Order: sequence, then C-alpha cells, then structure tokens
Amino acid sequence: MADISTLSGVKIYKAREAGNLEDVVGNTPLLQLRRLTAHLNPGVRVFAKAEWFNPGGSIKDRPALNIIRKALKQGKLGDGRILLDSTSGNMGIAYATFGATLGIPVTLAIPANASSERISILKALGAKLVLTDPLEGSDGALRKASELYEKHPEKYFYANQYDNPANWEAHYLSTGPEIVEQTQGEITHFVAGLGTSGTLTGTGRYLREMLGKVELIATQPDSPFHGLEGLKHMPTAIKPAIFDPQLPDRTQEVTTEDAHRMVLQLARQEGLFVGISSGAAAWVALKVASELDQGVVVTVFPDAGYKYLSDRQLWEGN
Ligand code: PMP
Repeated sequence: MADISTLSGVKIYKAREAGNLEDVVGNTPLLQLRRLTAHLNPGVRVFAKAEWFNPGGSIKDRPALNIIRKALKQGKLGDGRILLDSTSGNMGIAYATFGATLGIPVTLAIPANASSERISILKALGAKLVLTDPLEGSDGALRKASELYEKHPEKYFYANQYDNPANWEAHYLSTGPEIVEQTQGEITHFVAGLGTSGTLTGTGRYLREMLGKVELIATQPDSPFHGLEGLKHMPTAIKPAIFDPQLPDRTQEVTTEDAHRMVLQLARQEGLFVGISSGAAAWVALKVASELDQGVVVTVFPDAGYKYLSDRQLWEGN
C-alpha cells in the first residue's frame, strides 16, 4: 500500500475535521516572500498572513464572526433582528456569509462605486444593500448606517465595526496568537494597513503584551483621494473609536501607484494573486525589511485579487 504520509516527496498534512463554516475562520497560512526579498540581508525574512484562505475570502471574517457571536450571546441578535453596518465590501461579505449560514438578515450601507464584483457577491449572499454617494466614500456609508439605526433602533443591531471593540478583540484572540506561534515568537516588526484599524490594534496589542519589543508599523494611503480599497487616510477620515494613535511606533504612507506595481510583482514573482491593500502592505513591509540587518517582518494580506478583476488596466499592465 502507498505511504500516505508523503506523496511524490510532498508531506501530506492532516485534513481539517468536518464542521461548520464558522469553524474554519482563521488559522491562515503564514507565507514567506522569497523572491522579492532575495536582495535583502540574509538575516532578514518577510512573511504575510494569507487571509483570503478564510471562508468569506478576507481577513474580515475574523471581526465579523466575533461581533456576531458576541451580539448573539448578549441577546442583541436573533429573532429576526437585522444586522446593520456600513462597509467598503469585505466586512459586508463576511457579515453576509455568516448571516446566511446562521439565519441572520443583513443590511449594509455601501458606497455605490464599490467594485461590481463586491456588489454582486453581496447580492448573491442575500444581503440588502443601501447604496451611498461615491463622492462621500466610506464615511458617507458610515453616516447612512447610523442614520438608518437612529430612525429604527428597534429593527436593527448596529454592528458599527469602526467603534465595536469586538472588531479588534478578534485579532487579539486569533491573528496575534497565530503569528506568535507561526514565527515561534521571532517576529520583530508587524506591518498592517489601517481601515477600521482593527487588525493593527488587536494584533499589535497582543504582540506587545506577549513579546514586548515588537515594532508596529501602520500603513495608510498618502492622500484622501486614493485607490487603496479597504484603507483609510486617517488624517482626513472620520476616526474609528477603536483606533489608538499611540499604539503604532510609526506610520508609513503608500501611493496607489506603488501599491499597484507591488500587486503585479507579488503575482508574477511570488505567485500571490492578492488585492490592492496587500500590495500596499507588501510595499511597506519590504521597505521596512530593506532597512534591517536582521529581523522577521510580518504583514497581512487581507484578500485575493478576484474582487478587483474589473480593473483590467491594473492587472494587464507592465
Ligand atoms: N484591506 C482590505 C481589502 C480591507 O477590506 C480592510 C478592511 N476595511 C483592510 C485592509 C483594513 O483592515 P482593518 O479594518 O482591520 O484596519
């Protein structure tokens, strides 16, 4: 009989146990960037959490599930009460995914210019959408969601991902511990883009508490008018209540052009077909790594490229 522990020399890992969709959130692979780091000092390694491995396709499965679980426990959801929030896409997809499997109706305020892929995915998952003025961006969607809630508080559970501590706590409870385990505590720098800031806040707090001396680097667009979907330009945006500006050691700005170029490099040199904010995160992680003699730089790739395919210019460029 064939040896099933290896096949053509490749180790076969234990299959996951059968279970529910919620049980396969998190525990994503930590992938090393090898070719894009070949020019760095040999003592420097760069890794990224491959968050598109989550069932809803992005990192936002973690906070969405934690917010839903906490609300169910506190009796704020259930009996047909509608989960309401604003979203630029990924959080909505995560809410709609778990809403569908748990039988919770979902209503989302979303800028009308969100990519057509995102809108179609949300509709496929059965979410009710309230489209908001594209010129007002994610802040316009946020205002709309809070307006809907003010009008009918009895109908909704307003999840409010920007202010809800269950957002960052999800990363404190999962993303942080996974990174410590996957790097055997050797991480020296953590880089994350700022949207709600949940990823940076929760993961950063855990890393600081566990390891003490880890440098936390926030990543944000270089201007209010940018193409980095999922990220916020904090100086000009409505500040999320969960954002603690004292937490990061520094903030590095990225241009949309640099993020776009990096997305193609990740695809063509690492085989990683990721979204635009992953390009921004990788650009900063590699910049940080290039200034080191030694270290382990970890970042997060929030989603894959599929939802951005309608931007053909981006993918087919040189
Ligand atoms: N990238 C993408 C593609 C996202 O959807 C988000 C969430 N808005 C982020 C990055 C930022 O994550 P966070 O909200 O945890 O700061």
